[in-house]
Amino acid sequence: MPVDLRSDTVTRPTTAMREAMARAEVGDDVYGEDPTVNALEHEAAELFGHEAALFCPSGSMANQIAVQTLAGPGGELLCDSDAHVVTFEGGAAAAYGGVSTRTWPTRAGHLDVDTVAAFIRPGGGYAVPTVAVAVENTHNLGGGRVIPIAKLRRLRELADERAVALHLDGARIWNAHVADGVPLHEYGELFDTVSVCLSKGLGAPVGSLMISTRERVAAARVIRKRLGGGMRQAGILAEAGRHALRHHITRLAEDHAHAKRLAAALAPFGVCDAGGVQSNIVVLTVPDAAALGAAAREEGVLVSVLGPRLVRLVTHMDVDDAGTEQAVKVLTSLLSGGTAAAES
Ligand SMILES: *Cc1c(COP(=O)(O)O)cnc(C)c1O
Repeated sequence: MPVDLRSDTVTRPTTAMREAMARAEVGDDVYGEDPTVNALEHEAAELFGHEAALFCPSGSMANQIAVQTLAGPGGELLCDSDAHVVTFEGGAAAAYGGVSTRTWPTRAGHLDVDTVAAFIRPGGGYAVPTVAVAVENTHNLGGGRVIPIAKLRRLRELADERAVALHLDGARIWNAHVADGVPLHEYGELFDTVSVCLSKGLGAPVGSLMISTRERVAAARVIRKRLGGGMRQAGILAEAGRHALRHHITRLAEDHAHAKRLAAALAPFGVCDAGGVQSNIVVLTVPDAAALGAAAREEGVLVSVLGPRLVRLVTHMDVDDAGTEQAVKVLTSLLSGGTAAAES
């Protein structure tokens, strides 16, 4: 088996998770009759201090449904230019929501409050009205950086002052919670809508949730059906998510330790800043990303090539201590100009 560091989406359900899935009670969720989906939605909403949640087939759908409940056609969403919601979701905000977006480069996804304040436009029949701001935490292209809770509180104050909504792309909010020790409900309470992923570090095979007020989630249910995201006996998948919430959050600390180990080993080659790794992502800047990716693959280590010079490593529950050490061995050998095979 290769050591697969391409993404935490590659995790496979554990035996215990599969057993829980096999036992799940199910019903027709489009009729609202799947008890396991209903339980998951209830539990997730409570975790984040919200009234309701909606089980979605993917994080992109959860994000886009949230954006559509906050911003109608012609409304403007502000976010950083590397945010998943604008870079990796196929232009869905424009294609399906008619939502206008405005972005700007940031340092690792940290939205500067004064910059956001300067960007917000009230509209008024001529200017495009800013209606929502999206924050990604942890930030994927930002190298898994955790956005500090103090910064999020200042954004909330600004949003209240200027009457705009705040969306949290919390695909990896679990990692932020484990890294910073901030309770999930404290994150949740600062945002009007939250999306969370069950199928990344938490290890469920499929599933995300859009979390908000009862009223917004009712609207979201209509949008989900419109997008073709209504699922039937989805309790089998929802039970995987319930199992993940119970058993796979605190263990993310292991993934963070593995990412720090990788970064500490690779930093001496000048390809990353070891101190910058806060969760389960390590971004490397190398002379030739494609060449490094191909050579690592030859040696049984899979990485993501995100640009001509950018390589991303993501640790997760299917990479253990031994896998991490194997990746350290292969990557340090390649970066020092040798091949791991020649050494072993
Ligand atoms: C993975 C991810 C998503 C959702 O991706 P899907 O593949 O659609 O589930 C959303 N936001 C961020 C930051 C992500 O990394």
